[in-house]
Amino acid sequence: MFECLDDDRRLEYARALWRTARAAPFYGRKYDGCPEPRDWSAWRALPPLTRQELYDNAWPRSGEMLTQPPEGMIVTSTGGTTGMARYTVLTHGEWDRFCDEQARALRLIGVGPSDRVANLLVAGSLWPSFLGGHEIIKRIGALHLPISANIPVETVLRFCREFQPTVMMSLPTLFIFLADLALKDGITFPELRLIGYAGEHMSPAVRDHVRRGLGDQVKIHALAYTSADAGLMGYQCTRCAPNEYHVPTAFQLIETMDMERDRPAEPGETGELLVTNLARRSQPIIRYRIGDRGCFTGAPCPCGDPNPLLGLAGRAGDDFKLGGAYISMGTVEQWRELVAARLLDESVTEAA
Ligand SMILES: [Zn+2]
Repeated sequence: MFECLDDDRRLEYARALWRTARAAPFYGRKYDGCPEPRDWSAWRALPPLTRQELYDNAWPRSGEMLTQPPEGMIVTSTGGTTGMARYTVLTHGEWDRFCDEQARALRLIGVGPSDRVANLLVAGSLWPSFLGGHEIIKRIGALHLPISANIPVETVLRFCREFQPTVMMSLPTLFIFLADLALKDGITFPELRLIGYAGEHMSPAVRDHVRRGLGDQVKIHALAYTSADAGLMGYQCTRCAPNEYHVPTAFQLIETMDMERDRPAEPGETGELLVTNLARRSQPIIRYRIGDRGCFTGAPCPCGDPNPLLGLAGRAGDDFKLGGAYISMGTVEQWRELVAARLLDESVTEAA
């Protein structure tokens, strides 16, 4: 179970983080003249952190956001291989904490030691997803099949056929291609019970297609709402709707703001998300405009978890998360057209 912090303790953690952050020259300047946030209105008066600031000031372009020397750390990238790549540095201890939280989220959706988990996430390019997959599967104590999505889809299918995973983790796009190929070759996965996806949204049409290809018995679940900068921002219980997440309040402070009116959104009102990670001290992330919109439903969850429910309502900007990377919307549209063309081909063939 995830710990739940009340408002006072959330503020106390956030204040401690604010004090640490001022050791970094960037935050020293940014908060110059801001009094220590002793209440929520002072907290909300702190200027938000923009993606451009993060890009300009993150190591190795500059060391201005670090509160300590870049030693004993892991570097990951939140960017695509082209365009605006941005790097994230975490101490090994912070990385471990990020992975602990992710593992907790995976346990909640029912992955356990008796599972065989195919890690079909993308490795390389400093992306954290495949390595993170390794860490969380290890923490759960499941059998790990580190296959990756970096090899031809035919080879992925061959490994899966041989080892018969009970759980597969990847991007929706890979599951589409895998389902295509399984349908074409008449391959089934009788032991597969869970597909965990990350990085992109999975539409009902895609879910249907994936089930048709990989097995009707399969449950399909979002792995978590997460980012390389801030780590786990939302986890799902078995009662959550597809785009609904519990916020891990002991790890993440999420505010929904009406940025135009400069006021917090009401419960049930959609606003822009500002994210503060309460654990990351080496390069603090405070009131970061992550680029997503959402609303706190304000309703208790039937599962009994007191951590609040956040409904995601799409991107605030013009780019889209893909595989832990940011790729411009134009590229995503090209992928979608490719996938739609394949689905159409298939239904035409079936109709014939
Ligand atoms: Zn719940």
